[in-house]
Amino acid sequence: MHRLLTGDQRLVIDTARRFAEAEILPAAAAIDRDNRFPRELYRGLAELGLFGIGLAEEKGGAGMDAATACLVMEEIARCSGAVGNAFAIPVEAARFLAEHGGPVHQALVPGVLAGDVIVATAATEPDYGSDVAGLRTQAVRDGDDYVITGTKAWVTFGEIAHVVLVFAKTDPQAGQRGLSCIMVETDRPGISRGKAEELLGMHGLAECGLSFDGVRVPVANRLGPENGAFKMAMANFNFSRLMMASMALGMAQAGLEDALAYSQSRIQFGAPIASFQAVQFMLADMSTEISAARLLIQHAARLMDAGHEIAREAAEAKLFATDMANRAISNALQIHGGNGYSRAYRVERLYRDVRLSQIYEGTNQIQRLIIARQLARAHG
Ligand SMILES: Cc1cc2nc3c(=O)[nH]c(=O)nc-3n(C[C@H](O)[C@H](O)[C@H](O)COP(=O)(O)OP(=O)(O)OC[C@H]3O[C@@H](n4cnc5c(N)ncnc54)[C@H](O)[C@@H]3O)c2cc1C
Repeated sequence: MHRLLTGDQRLVIDTARRFAEAEILPAAAAIDRDNRFPRELYRGLAELGLFGIGLAEEKGGAGMDAATACLVMEEIARCSGAVGNAFAIPVEAARFLAEHGGPVHQALVPGVLAGDVIVATAATEPDYGSDVAGLRTQAVRDGDDYVITGTKAWVTFGEIAHVVLVFAKTDPQAGQRGLSCIMVETDRPGISRGKAEELLGMHGLAECGLSFDGVRVPVANRLGPENGAFKMAMANFNFSRLMMASMALGMAQAGLEDALAYSQSRIQFGAPIASFQAVQFMLADMSTEISAARLLIQHAARLMDAGHEIAREAAEAKLFATDMANRAISNALQIHGGNGYSRAYRVERLYRDVRLSQIYEGTNQIQRLIIARQLARAHG
């Protein structure tokens, strides 16, 4: 894949790789252990201009395409899944604000790109996850304001965000056609943060629930048309699912590299375990599936860059890459034997971190539903 890159792509990917190996890799274990938001690395990625990777130059971005953004994500997640996850959020937020926002949102984009303004997204609720259309948070129009009431769950960056993109019902009877997206500054009265989530992996991302108790926000804070947020969110998922797929892919690549190195140094029965065919076949399968996932992601990203609709291709890439990464990392852990089960080896963290990729940005069951629906639509 890398042999086919253009000079510009190679430059930005090499920059990401150098930063990831020099700065992120040495910090990754401590971020996991201390469950601490990696603020300096976040800033470092911003200073390299990488938060604008998915944004057109005229909007202040780096003007690279989705295909390059995915390859950059892979490099970052190869050194830390959690930092990869943190990286995805401003990249996606900057695109979303620039694409759907009015003047108040556009004004925030430079701050997001610089790493000064932290944005979170709050769609999920305690009782509504996959069923986004059912969510209960309401935004009731009152003159030039909305008054927002409801409770959100699992907000990544919820503890540290300056603004939150809240998905709320503006027409509660209309299901998915009654959803709007409203930007809420977190210093407004009526917002309270729940306790920090204690998670299996992906530590350091400041997840918490958020409650909105009659939070008053100007109508100008709404992104896109009233009741039009479902469509906007679905379109945004095409890019964000490719980013999540690339995040899982980067972690799988790290798992393969660790398994290769370990298998060559670990001696059993008088020979490196890499000489046993059972181990060789696990490594061969990992490598093959990693290549297949990379091609699926790049194919979908290139279609997107060429202006095509990619709901099926993005769901397929997310489904395959994240299932593959969980399989590959489980096998990488197996190759480490008992050591793989120990915090002393990175593969233990990869195993915990990668599990999330099958759950969010739409669970992998939901990806299968999307793929089946798209197939039925195309052939019905
Ligand atoms: C660490 C973490 C960070 C997150 N960050 C954010 C964030 O920043 N913002 C945000 O809004 N959300 C966030 N989420 C929420 C995440 O998007 C949801 O957890 C996810 O969409 C699944 O929803 P749920 O947990 O309510 O599961 P549910 O929807 O209750 O699903 C439970 C199970 O049922 C299955 N299922 C549900 N419906 C169907 C169906 N129709 N057909 C087949 N199977 C089905 C699911 O696949 C799953 O296996 C985060 C979650 C986690 C764990």
